[in-house]
Amino acid sequence: MIPLVKPIFSGKEKQLINEVIDSGIVASGKYVEEFEQKFAKLSQAKFGTACSSGTTALHAALLACGIKSGDKVITTPFTFIATANSVLYCGAKPLFADIDPETYNISPKSVEEILEKEKDVKAVICVHLYGLPCNMDELLKLKEKYKFVLIEDACQAHLAEYKGRRVGAIGDAGAFSFYATKNMTTGEGGVVLTDNARIDALARKYINHGRTAHYEHDILGFNFRLTNIAAAMGIAQCESIEERTKQRIANAQKLSDGLKDADFLETPFVPKDYTHVYHQYTLRIKDGLRDKFMQYLKDSGIGCGIHYPQVVYKQPLYQSLGYKNGLCPEAEKAVEEVISIPVHPSLSEEDLNTIIKTIKGFKK
Ligand SMILES: *Cc1c(COP(=O)(O)O)cnc(C)c1O
Repeated sequence: MIPLVKPIFSGKEKQLINEVIDSGIVASGKYVEEFEQKFAKLSQAKFGTACSSGTTALHAALLACGIKSGDKVITTPFTFIATANSVLYCGAKPLFADIDPETYNISPKSVEEILEKEKDVKAVICVHLYGLPCNMDELLKLKEKYKFVLIEDACQAHLAEYKGRRVGAIGDAGAFSFYATKNMTTGEGGVVLTDNARIDALARKYINHGRTAHYEHDILGFNFRLTNIAAAMGIAQCESIEERTKQRIANAQKLSDGLKDADFLETPFVPKDYTHVYHQYTLRIKDGLRDKFMQYLKDSGIGCGIHYPQVVYKQPLYQSLGYKNGLCPEAEKAVEEVISIPVHPSLSEEDLNTIIKTIKGFKK
């Protein structure tokens, strides 16, 4: 069985975690600060605030950008549910824009259609899905024109680049996840990145009980802090992420080259000047064959997964909030056709050849 995901550790993680335990300072501490600085630097951002997860990072980013109860926030329905849930946590209302069928990312045109209808949209959360950056120029143009806060859900896009700039702080703020299956991990963990000192200070306050000074609190904050133990793991992972990302990209290239003649599928599309970091390598299987293809891969010992099997607004929670089906036709089509196959850096040359050969052997 070739697994779909596999966390990789260099050995440095254990060493640093032992240091933390020996130091006796296992909750917040200097490893957290060092990790924040290292990850922000890697991502070409000015500030980073470590959080307990990608979800709490999204929540803190929205709060720090001033999203309040009743506000409208546009996002994509083709994502992990946490993206839209973070809007609900603020008491705000998610509005769903459709995706671009080529990139699977939020369509700026669809965003603009909503902005034209709804006059008071406070924020847009774009998701760099699978590790491919969104069309940031178009989103930034809309931001100029309609004045909203732009938040990047970069939970799948560590070190992804848009026209030479790494994602996360291209908009007002960005959230990353370090969950076990992401491109780098701290077990559970996240970070808010921003170039804006005011947003950074607020995010830092929100994740720590709205604290202004020792036992002094002026806003309703949370405990979204990362531990020194998790941060130690993160520091070690920062040292290998560039190398591991290169390996993901090389693996993806090999898969795309090997699969280019298979007529029943589409390999990932990468626009010019975008760097896809392949959190997932996702195929589109045409002619209603996806589920049959998935069964074939499973029977052949190739790990695979569907990201995502349903659009967010068709989840029972969102249906109970009154969202109607048919809102975003391209996203609804994608959930029926996508399938992710292994691309992680621990794949061997032989694994990649096996994957390609197996897929080419699929009989419609
Ligand atoms: C993983 C993920 C999240 C949530 O991150 P957690 O660390 O699991 O809380 C949010 N958005 C997207 C797009 C993700 O992939």
